[in-house]
Amino acid sequence: MLAPHSPPPEFAIEARGLDKTYRAQGKGKPTHALKSVDLAIPRGSFFGLLGPNGAGKSTFINILGGLVVKSGGAASIWGHDIETDPMNARGAIGIVPQELNMDPFFSPAEALEIQAGYYGVPKGERKTEEILKAVGLWDKRDAYARTLSGGMKRRLLVAKAMVHSPPVLVLDEPTAGVDVDLRRQLWDYVRSLHARGVTIVLTTHYLEEAQELCDTIAIINHGEVIACEPTPKLISRLDQKTLVVTPQAPIALPFPGFEDLVFAMKPTGAFTLTYRTNEHSVEELLDRIRAAGVAIKDLSIEEPNLEDVFVELTA
Ligand code: ADP
Repeated sequence: MLAPHSPPPEFAIEARGLDKTYRAQGKGKPTHALKSVDLAIPRGSFFGLLGPNGAGKSTFINILGGLVVKSGGAASIWGHDIETDPMNARGAIGIVPQELNMDPFFSPAEALEIQAGYYGVPKGERKTEEILKAVGLWDKRDAYARTLSGGMKRRLLVAKAMVHSPPVLVLDEPTAGVDVDLRRQLWDYVRSLHARGVTIVLTTHYLEEAQELCDTIAIINHGEVIACEPTPKLISRLDQKTLVVTPQAPIALPFPGFEDLVFAMKPTGAFTLTYRTNEHSVEELLDRIRAAGVAIKDLSIEEPNLEDVFVELTA
């Protein structure tokens, strides 16, 4: 169980100069998966760790979980150094892995009891019922794991990660292949944990999901942290907006005169002009559209989203 840590640390997870090089296999070149990463994840945050495939996210998480050995630098979880104080570091974190690997012969209730035993949680302090109810698996407590659906298995992995009540929960792509309803249910549970003070670290490919859930986001690319800031600040980095115009009559393509902007057609017949707010004003764009002989039926302005920022930063 977790050793008391008073006062609570400022950062739930802290990495300083964290480095990882995977040794070459055969004649291949070694892979420098993490390049002296500095990253501080504030206690109590709902933190998104995003990046393209191969960026180094899993390597980072697996170092924290003790599955991958770092090549250099240091990392601590809840103030416990993973190298010099591995027991307490490990006790402070629950990791929901990407793969749905679980023993097919144990029921959810048994799986949680075994996991609790592994972490040394005394029988009287186990929360098997509470956790299974929270993830919507209480009805399935005695079913074989192999009879559970993909979404149920995913929720069982979250349940297993919480048996020792860690103050930090890491979810590595938790909603891949999970349908919309179950995704909601999973997020409701994770949000309730966050509301109770658990620091959440999430990696996901669903940028919309990250934008909705995470208060702070780090973007990692080629093993380097290229951004780490509050979500609204990150999104406001992009001084870009999109003007959506529905013309009175269909416009003839090609539509010349807007080569300095990003022009696109929508299936509805509307067209969009994406522009830099420090280079163009709406007034100017409207003048140009009218000058091109287009009568405007309707218009709106779209703000940039996390996906736009992500593409811009990682392109
Ligand atoms: P992500 O989780 O962001 O997709 P990973 O941490 O899985 O990225 O991978 C980072 C880099 O390290 C990639 O180039 C990947 O091919 C490489 N890598 C990951 N695991 C291993 C391994 N066990 N052996 C060799 N290279 C690896």
